[in-house]
Amino acid sequence: MKIPVARHISTIVPYPPGKPIEELEREYGIQGSIKLASNENPLGPSPRALAALNDALSRLHRYPDGSGYYLRQKISRKYSVPFDGIVLGNGSNEVIEFAIRAFVQPGDRVIVPEPSFLLYKLVTQMVGGETVSIPLRDYSIDLEGMLAAVDDRTRVLFLTNPNNPTGTLLRKAPFDAFLAAVPPEVLVVLDEAYIEFARDDDTPQGFDYIHQEDPCLLVLRTFSKAYGLAGLRIGYGVTNPSVATYLNRVHQPFNTGSLSQAAAIAALDDEEFLSETLRTVWEGMEYLCREMDRIGLNTLPSQANFFLIQVPVDGKKVFEHMLRQGVIIRPMNAYGLPRHIRVNVGRPEENRRFVKALTLALDELSRTD
Ligand SMILES: *Cc1c(COP(=O)(O)O)cnc(C)c1O
Repeated sequence: MKIPVARHISTIVPYPPGKPIEELEREYGIQGSIKLASNENPLGPSPRALAALNDALSRLHRYPDGSGYYLRQKISRKYSVPFDGIVLGNGSNEVIEFAIRAFVQPGDRVIVPEPSFLLYKLVTQMVGGETVSIPLRDYSIDLEGMLAAVDDRTRVLFLTNPNNPTGTLLRKAPFDAFLAAVPPEVLVVLDEAYIEFARDDDTPQGFDYIHQEDPCLLVLRTFSKAYGLAGLRIGYGVTNPSVATYLNRVHQPFNTGSLSQAAAIAALDDEEFLSETLRTVWEGMEYLCREMDRIGLNTLPSQANFFLIQVPVDGKKVFEHMLRQGVIIRPMNAYGLPRHIRVNVGRPEENRRFVKALTLALDELSRTD
């Protein structure tokens, strides 16, 4: 290939996509494997969303509504947020990209917690920006450290609440103080991909803060987790309308499909599915933590639908051993936590299978280590 490539592009380490489950099963000669690696909904998709998809199928020859009018109207009414401040994305991941593309020029800085969602760094690099990583303190986001890192080259600052991969929460009082101190030239992105799962009330709800002009806050929500629609790729950001006009300039006219919009509208009404999901996740989390305790493994208390487990051997080895047993989890080596694994809560039978597989893996690995 002879095409010149910019240095900030050639040095990108691509996001590891992973193989389809079917391929893994073929490679390892296994069947009926379970996936607890991507924090997906263990119950499947919202039934109301499925019904809405069925209805929408006959209109697939039409382009989608590029403005996402009805979905934005639904979100605006449900959460009392400004209609003009809502930006839809092909997953909330795409809204992360809008924020960075709209405000970060080559050489500008983006502040991220470390470890946190890998995509913030990746997209920053795509546009030639520079990430400044602020280590977690005691597994929680260090708001003071992040604030201290803000300088006149900083354009965007990411917070994840609850944080991925730790499942820890921001607290209201420190968050309020932080927000009051952030300079108005910085966009604060509050990624709430897992906020539905949080049970502790002492945490900021991003929608309560977006009426203020400065500093600018962009709150991200997704249909991929609590609503079980990860495969459709639909999420959104809510911010004040003056910020939204810039986010809307950097996206293509039909970035979300008509099926995704229809399913998302129906999912927001599916209270029954959401409660069932939360009940399953909370009960499963209790069961799993109890079992880890019984086996003698340390876990990190989590307010999300996943949690970290400390393991006495290399996490990648645990991952590979469990994979051969047909249980897919996430090693945390790429997040700088080589002795942790991350697992999301599954259905009760999946959780039991996970405990068995982990026990066997640790048994065998500690004998050969
Ligand atoms: C899963 C996840 C998302 C959701 O991404 P989508 O593109 O909406 O599927 C966003 N942020 C974090 C931290 C996540 O873990």
